[in-house]
Amino acid sequence: MATRKKSMKLDKKVKGEPGQFLTDKLSAFDNAMKQFDRAADILKLTKNQVAVIKEPRRVTEVKLPIRMDDGSIQVFMAYRVHHNVARGPAKGGVRFHPDVTVDEVKALAFWMTYKCAVVDIPMGGGKGGVAVDPKGLSLGELERLARRYFAEMIDLFGPDRDVPAPDVNTNPQIMAWFMDTYSMHHHDYIPAVVTGKPLALGGSKGRASATAQGMVYCVRKAFEHFKIKLAGATIAIQGFGNAGSYAAKLLSEDGCIIRGVSDIDGAFISDDYGGIDPEVAIKHVKKHGSLKGLEKVVKVKRLGDPMELLEMSTDVLIPAALENQITSENAPRVKAKIIAECANGPLTPEADDIFEKKGTFIIPDILCNAGGVTVSYLEWVQNRMGYYWTEEQIQQDLKRIMETSFANVLATSLHHKVPMRTAAFIVGIQRVNEAAELRGLYA
Ligand code: GLU
Repeated sequence: MATRKKSMKLDKKVKGEPGQFLTDKLSAFDNAMKQFDRAADILKLTKNQVAVIKEPRRVTEVKLPIRMDDGSIQVFMAYRVHHNVARGPAKGGVRFHPDVTVDEVKALAFWMTYKCAVVDIPMGGGKGGVAVDPKGLSLGELERLARRYFAEMIDLFGPDRDVPAPDVNTNPQIMAWFMDTYSMHHHDYIPAVVTGKPLALGGSKGRASATAQGMVYCVRKAFEHFKIKLAGATIAIQGFGNAGSYAAKLLSEDGCIIRGVSDIDGAFISDDYGGIDPEVAIKHVKKHGSLKGLEKVVKVKRLGDPMELLEMSTDVLIPAALENQITSENAPRVKAKIIAECANGPLTPEADDIFEKKGTFIIPDILCNAGGVTVSYLEWVQNRMGYYWTEEQIQQDLKRIMETSFANVLATSLHHKVPMRTAAFIVGIQRVNEAAELRGLYA
């Protein structure tokens, strides 16, 4: 218990700084670079090739002064990173979170480059963030912050340049404000500048559930690979935002039992055979803003330390929150046989090493959660055509893309005898490198 407490504190306190108690580096960007190196070594990339595709191409940092409702002005740090645009415009979400740092946004942009390449959509990698707790803002303050973010960096964005989307604590309404700010500035209606919009403004059917749905397609294939039945499998989900809540809903529709869910307020564990009814949990969160008090409406035990969820004895663990949740400190106590990463960067490379020895099967973020950006791409295509597809058409494309990508990464993993994460980077790096070499250097 004492060590567990320490690790929680550590995760909170030193995010983006070197670990104090652990050997793991908790800089998300350093960890991302390590992931790259593992695959680049196998591919025997040359120094020149690495120089072009490893580091971000452009890092923008601005201060956003916002007039608060009480008349005072508060200044928020904001970022947009373009990691690589060899295969198409930068693509990736904008995160509103108090812990956002440039280190984190650089890592997230890097993961977007290779995520888009793994699922073979013609886009590059980008990411944005604002260091803010949006829960402390009124709706008016939130709108002013969103518009100022887009206006401040307006020249970075564009349907062929950089196409943002939702991420942690951002949503379709914020995308609508981004789109309106850009469209007003250009005196045109330009929905393709951002994805994850409301349906009424050119959003796509299936976008809200896409991240979790893509994960479900991967998990189904993983179970098929191990020749085990998915119905009846037990699941623990860390984080109950968009990805986590849809994950619970969709997996329970597949007959899985949701044994535990967590958010910052605690872990809610059901030892009951039937598990947690996702609909009840989702309704609760809609009403109260978090899982707080769930123990009063369903038969669950509330553990005050949310990190304990990660150590539950379930078939599948789904991290669906932030980076660096599983380190060399808690990885030895993680019991799940399969980890499906709905979050970006939830495991450190040291945790990966422990899981490789334990034989835990990891479906890595850049494959597992790529359903979100895949449907974002389909939204962008629909916006550019001005013609909109049915839910069935979207699901058909998403399923095909996720299943092909999973099969490709699995075959690469078996061929090179490397974990799925390194295999996913091998697939992604080959595609990005090919595009970069074909384009060559401008001068
Ligand atoms: N924020 C999501 C991700 O991390 C979606 C990005 C997008 O749709 O562009 O993949």
